[in-house]
Amino acid sequence: MGRMFDVVVVGGGHAGAEAAAAAARCGARTLLLTHRLDRLGEMSCNPAIGGVGKGHLVREVDALDGLMGRAADAAGIHFKLLNRSKGPAVRGPRAQADRALYRAAVQGLLRETPNLSIEEGVAEGLERGPDNGIAAVLTGEGERIGCGALVVTAGTFLRGEIHLGPERLPAGRHGDPASIGLALALAALDLPVRRLKTGTPPRLDGRTIDWAGIEAQPGDDPPEPLSWMTERIANPQVVCGITATAPGTHAIIRASLDRAPIYTGQIQGAGPRYCPSIEDKVVRFADRERHQIFLEPEGLPGTEDIPTVYPNGISTSLPRDVQEAVIASIPGLRRARILRHGYAIEYDHLDPRALRPSLEVRAVPRLFLAGQVNGTTGYEEAAAQGLLAGINAAHRAAGGTEARVLLRTEAYAGVLVDDLVTQGVTEPYRMLTARAEHRLRLRADNAGLRLTGRGLEWGCVGPERAARHRAFATAVTEALARARAETATPAALAAAGLPVNQDGIPRTLLEVMALPAAQGPALDQAFPWLRDLSPGVRTQLETEALYAPYLARQAAEFAALEREERLRIPEEVDFAAIAGLSTEMRQRLCAARPATLGAAGRVPGITPAALVALAGHLRRGA
Ligand code: FAD
Repeated sequence: MGRMFDVVVVGGGHAGAEAAAAAARCGARTLLLTHRLDRLGEMSCNPAIGGVGKGHLVREVDALDGLMGRAADAAGIHFKLLNRSKGPAVRGPRAQADRALYRAAVQGLLRETPNLSIEEGVAEGLERGPDNGIAAVLTGEGERIGCGALVVTAGTFLRGEIHLGPERLPAGRHGDPASIGLALALAALDLPVRRLKTGTPPRLDGRTIDWAGIEAQPGDDPPEPLSWMTERIANPQVVCGITATAPGTHAIIRASLDRAPIYTGQIQGAGPRYCPSIEDKVVRFADRERHQIFLEPEGLPGTEDIPTVYPNGISTSLPRDVQEAVIASIPGLRRARILRHGYAIEYDHLDPRALRPSLEVRAVPRLFLAGQVNGTTGYEEAAAQGLLAGINAAHRAAGGTEARVLLRTEAYAGVLVDDLVTQGVTEPYRMLTARAEHRLRLRADNAGLRLTGRGLEWGCVGPERAARHRAFATAVTEALARARAETATPAALAAAGLPVNQDGIPRTLLEVMALPAAQGPALDQAFPWLRDLSPGVRTQLETEALYAPYLARQAAEFAALEREERLRIPEEVDFAAIAGLSTEMRQRLCAARPATLGAAGRVPGITPAALVALAGHLRRGA
């Protein structure tokens, strides 16, 4: 009958690595089967992990003891906390990584995971059992591998086709074969298959860039790790550069649109709205004179044969000669040599509405899908899904029936899966803070407090993190309880140098901490026990204090929203004039013109946060 595993994971990208490691951590005997072992953990596009919204996902993956944060810390060569000047809820930690070090870190973490076997091979077919559920995966080498559950994480590989100007080539990504057999096997299950596309920019020879003429962008000093388990970042840090397209660049692109595959009809699939190609940007934002480009080194100096630079912001599938002219038109890149041209890739994905919230295919028991195959884009989105699919697959293989799900109120990963399985996708889905209606609560800084306890219940958190988490969570809970209970009169606060309204009403410490003027040594003098808190516990207390009034108001807004489901939207409403709606939300509402707030909520892609803004507008107009 051949070999048998509890869980088999197909694909060793970001979804597959997390799925396999999570299933194994949950105690399932797991096999990770992928095309090439040396490309396990490959970053197919930009050499960076995290960012706004995405950084939240990385911290959540980390909180459930996933790999991504630790791998990014081991490989990181340029760290930046994005949105530092904004509130803690929308700050996004990001790390640029040395590509080779990132692969090595993922491979090392996988190799040291108990219960996990890793093998090179190609999944070509699927076998169903008597209950129509998945029973085995069939490999290109002719082997049948039995499994209790299967997780498919084939990324951009399913009937993948690269486009570079008029050139077309079947491929999963540069240098890798497309997955044809597996795509046909999935289609044979009668699953809803669609096409999407994504793209990548040309890579440049770092020695041929005029760095002196380019604005330098250093990373944060000290760098802030992505993983809670990382004490400090050991790698030396690199400086990046910022340049921009010029009017001449746009003229070259406009003159070449008749050779651009996204405009000639050669590419049919929709591309990522939030990561458009440069030709798309030039057409869609015709009045913009420049588009920023971040020049990101792909490795530490001296480690690559040729130092490779990733020009972030100019992904393209224009013909080779046009790409060369485009690069030569950009300040600082006039002499830059292209090492590899940019390209777009079109691939099959499955409509995620065919999935349960556990990421199991409704119609095929014990078959799970995670990552780009579900219509998302991005390493972090893939990792979060992979982790959840791995946990659920292990649970299912052990006979469990109920789904292990994160709610929208507790995690960005919960928002991601809920959006996918309830709304589906019309374009590659990317995480944004605007998608999370509970974003004041779902912060990157409190992911562990939100989720590690859940991970302990599910069995996917190892003993080291468990011990650290328990100590920290207890300290935060105790400090918060004390800060909510302990009060001081305005007179006592004034005596300690804290300027508070002299209205005679005692304030809790948490209320006092929320006052901008009530910071610094005077606060510690009035409440001396604050001095004994560790910096991490103190930060949690300060952030909770900052958001407490908003969270209370938000809870009231959500309650009101439920009541206002039936609120009518006037026909003449100008969606473009509603504050707080993103361009995407405005476009979707303008196209659908829903008649009630409830109907607006059912327009595909409309976020609960957009509904709150719309409700506020209607209420003010009423
Ligand atoms: P992948 O990382 O693609 O991994 C798939 C894995 O499955 C690979 O290891 C592959 O070898 C394996 N595999 C596939 N089929 C089989 C099979 N039959 N048998 C065995 N193994 C198999 N993301 C962004 O956020 N922004 C971007 O601008 C962006 N641009 C991109 C441009 C390009 C050209 C590409 C290729 C990707 C781009 N991405 C971008 C997407 C990003 O790379 C993916 O979102 C992410 O890698 C998805 O992770 P994944 O694990 O789902 O799949």
